[in-house]
Amino acid sequence: MIIGHQKQWEFLKRSFEEGQLAHAFLFCGESQIGKKTLAIELVKLLNCQDANKPCGACKNCLDVEKGKFLDFLFVRSGEESNNFEGMFSYNSALPDLKSGEVLTDKKEIGIDQARKALDFLSLRSYFSGYKAVIIDNAEKLTIEAQNCLLKTLEEPKGKTILILVTSQPDRLLTTIFSRCQTIKFFATKEILKVSKNPEQVKKEKETLDELLKIISGSLAEKFAYTKNIKEDPSTSSGQGAIVLEIMRILQKHFRKNILTDNSATKKLKLLDELIYKLTFTNASPKLALEILFLEL
Ligand SMILES: [Zn+2]
Repeated sequence: MIIGHQKQWEFLKRSFEEGQLAHAFLFCGESQIGKKTLAIELVKLLNCQDANKPCGACKNCLDVEKGKFLDFLFVRSGEESNNFEGMFSYNSALPDLKSGEVLTDKKEIGIDQARKALDFLSLRSYFSGYKAVIIDNAEKLTIEAQNCLLKTLEEPKGKTILILVTSQPDRLLTTIFSRCQTIKFFATKEILKVSKNPEQVKKEKETLDELLKIISGSLAEKFAYTKNIKEDPSTSSGQGAIVLEIMRILQKHFRKNILTDNSATKKLKLLDELIYKLTFTNASPKLALEILFLEL
């Protein structure tokens, strides 16, 4: 089950199903948002034995999860081993390099590890499926190691896939970039936080609190509120723009409550209609707001 990054996942799944999967990917985005998890899901998808891929329950899926799958190699820097969550808790990879992870004792991922990864990809697949290598924190690859990887990126062979996972793609060579298919990951919550300044958020919250009070108030209060809406000289917003803003704030509020408020869907439908009318017809903003208050 994939939580979040639905678009990225759908894209990868579709590419695989259509036989269009790239040989090399660059998964980039902030750290700790699930890039590595999705990369591992992809390896499961490629090798799952069930019709409903990835099932997460067949032997291959379970072995990938445990880092025991013979056609899967996970590479990371030594520094990471201390705080690794145990997903790949075993370390049987060396010296036979058949599976599992390659640990380095350095803070960087050097040319030796890159070579091992390439050797691994060039071996024949055990299960005649995909051979997969994930390099986590790929920004830790030395320049030498990156140059070494370029070779395989230029001449990919058969059913192989190399996934570089990084939060600092700018530390990779541009040649690596141009040979990988880049999948960008976004921390949705973070984006919402930074796109509005705190002042705006505070103002919106105050407006919402006031609106909720009016909605549960008396008819007289509702009419008084509507009557008092004036053009805002500070932002040169007309009544229409102010009413639209009010409706958008309520829309956002009801969308959030759609699971807990049975009438939210009905309210949202009304809001959609009114917003449409205000945007595309000459409907009176005050009248639209009165209708809204009476119906909610
Ligand atoms: Zn499976």
